[in-house]
This record gives sequence, structure tokens and C-alpha cells, in this order.
Amino acid sequence: MPSRPQRILSTLIQWFDADYQPAGADAVRAEADRVDWLRCIPFIILHLGCLGVIWTGASPFAVGAAVALYFLRMAAVTGVYHRYFSHKTYSTSRPMQFFLALCGGTTVQRGPLWWAYHHRHHHQHSDQPDDAHSPHVHGFLWSHIGWITSRRNFPTDYSKVRDLDRFPELVFLNRFDAVVPLAFAFAVFGLGALLKAHAPGLHTDGWQLLVWGFFISTTALFHGTSCINSMAHLMGRRRYRTEDDSRNSFILAVITLGEGWHNNHHRYQSSTRNGFFWWELDITYYLLRALSWTGLIWGLKAVPASVLAEGERADHDESVEAATRAHAAHPEYSSLKRIVPTAAAIAVATVNAAQPSMERRVDLQEIHRGAGSPAQGAQNGAGP
Ligand SMILES: [Zn+2]
Ligand SMILES: [Zn+2]
Repeated sequence: MPSRPQRILSTLIQWFDADYQPAGADAVRAEADRVDWLRCIPFIILHLGCLGVIWTGASPFAVGAAVALYFLRMAAVTGVYHRYFSHKTYSTSRPMQFFLALCGGTTVQRGPLWWAYHHRHHHQHSDQPDDAHSPHVHGFLWSHIGWITSRRNFPTDYSKVRDLDRFPELVFLNRFDAVVPLAFAFAVFGLGALLKAHAPGLHTDGWQLLVWGFFISTTALFHGTSCINSMAHLMGRRRYRTEDDSRNSFILAVITLGEGWHNNHHRYQSSTRNGFFWWELDITYYLLRALSWTGLIWGLKAVPASVLAEGERADHDESVEAATRAHAAHPEYSSLKRIVPTAAAIAVATVNAAQPSMERRVDLQEIHRGAGSPAQGAQNGAGP
């Protein structure tokens, strides 16, 4: 059992070297869940850094940069960490794979192998006791943020990512997972400082851009991504009857650039697209598709026709069920059987109601035309 100072020292080293595990990673993973506050200090600083806005203020450029960096890096979380490293839904070259891992690193969601290991584990044990972030097993708060602070969830289980740990450059980025985020933070600060010197009209500076482009944008990115762990297993509709409680949600698809179609994804993980049908907005897929036209990535995997047909059948069955439920609740309004005859009756009544006025019009014309007609004369002659 390590002494307290040893434990503190180990944790401080782990801030920079995530694979430093003197007690062994397996032993740590076997522990019970508990928040490791010391280990989480960088994560807490990330959130507290947002308060820097009190001192730096805002500018349209800085706010715009925060929004742009949110969506660009969301594309890296979903298109790289999720759809490439976790599920290998497309192929790429080794240099491009490294570049994609660097892009993933800017999201400050730890290393690509750690991310992929946890995500694969989630798919294996979705909403079961072993699922590290199921809202049904551990509650909403734990699934959203708690699990990432737990000591046992920090080490990477390399045995779950054997296809990735044969690349030393990826293992390096995974082990020293603070390198890319720190470089990214410095770059954002440096850009702000440069703009202050060379484009004063933008009214921004290094500290302001650091607060907006790094702290606020990254914190929002964390919570946006976390909504898939928490909300996407609670909110939305279930097209496929998967064994977990994953759901499809348009709102979550917007904030996560397509990951909101989580029930689709749990039904078929290997496809590059999560929005299975054209109306299911999946910006990440559109971006990956566009990237494939450059030849930098290839072999995007499609959704099998059988899974699409299953989805169409499920949608059809659900609409029939919904119509049946609506009829049971409001039989006087809901049924087409009643609406169609009513509409037909209204139409017939309208046509019939139109006849008298038409006849009247005809009568008037005839009276007018017939003023000097033989019939009129005959009528006149027959009069007294
Ligand atoms: Zn899930
Ligand atoms: Zn997945």
C-alpha cells in the first residue's frame, strides 16, 4: 500500500504521464468507483478557467472563435475519436491517422486509445453494471461527469485496443495526453496576442482568446459530448429494440454533429453514418464523405440494407401503434374512417348547396334573354 506522499507524487506524475501506474493499471481498474480529486485538478481548472471572462470580457471575434472551435473539435471527437479510433468505420494512411489523432488531442478528451477503450467497453456492456457511464445504472450525474473523475477509469486498458497500440506514435499521444491540449492552448493564446498586435480592430488579445477559444469552448465541448453518455440513453425515441436504452434525438444530433442518432448507432456500430436516413442530420458523416473525395480517407462503411429495412419496418409499426393509441384516446377525432366520410359529406353538401344559386342564375338569364322571345310572347298572349 503506497504512503500518502507517494500517492500524491504518483498523481502529479500522472498529470503528464497517464501510463504511470506504480500499483499496476489492472489493480487500479479493479478498485471501487471513487472521485480522485487531486487527479481531477486539471479538469476542474478547465471549468474554472471559464470564469476568466470576468476579467477578459468578450469580443465578437473571441465568441465566434469559441463557437467555431466547438464545432470543429466536435467533428474531431465524433469523426476521429468515435468513428475512426473506436469503431474503424473508415480507413486512412498512417501519417493521416497520426494527424487525425493530433486533431483529436485538441479536444482535451484524453488520448485516442483511452477514449476508444472506454467507448468499446460501453458498447460491450451498455446499460449493464459494468458500463462505466450508464445513467440507468449510476444515475444522470455520474454518467455525465462523475465517471471521468473516478480513479479506476483513468488507466487505459491496452488489451482492448490491440489494433491501435501497435502504433508507437499513438501510444505516445495516449501516454502523454496533456501535450496536445497544452500546445493547443498556447496556440490559441498566441493567436490572440498576434491579433492584438496586428489586427487591433478585432478588439481581442491573448488572454481573452484563451478564455473563449480554449476554456469556454472546451468546457462546452466536454458537456456536449457527455450528453451522448447521459442524455442519449434517456431522451428521444427508440427505432431499434436494442438491449440497451439508447435513443435517437434530433437536438442531440445538432449539438454533437450527428451523434444524437445513438439508437441507430447502437443497432449498427460499424457504419460511418449515424443518421441512417437522409432526414437524419449527420454533419460528421457529410464532412467525412467530403474528406473521402480528397483521397485522404477511404473505405467508408455503409449501413446494410437489412438494417435499413428493419428500421423502416420499425418506423411503420410505430406509426400504426401511435395511430391506434391516438384512436383509443380520442376515437371521435382520430380515425380516418370518420374523417373521410365527414369530408365527403361536407363536399356533397357544398355541391348541393351550390345548385339553387346556379339555377337561379340560369333562370335570371333566361328571363332576360326571353324578353322578346316567342315563348315570352306566347306567355304574354296567353295572359288576360
Ligand atoms: Zn451509448
Ligand atoms: Zn460508438
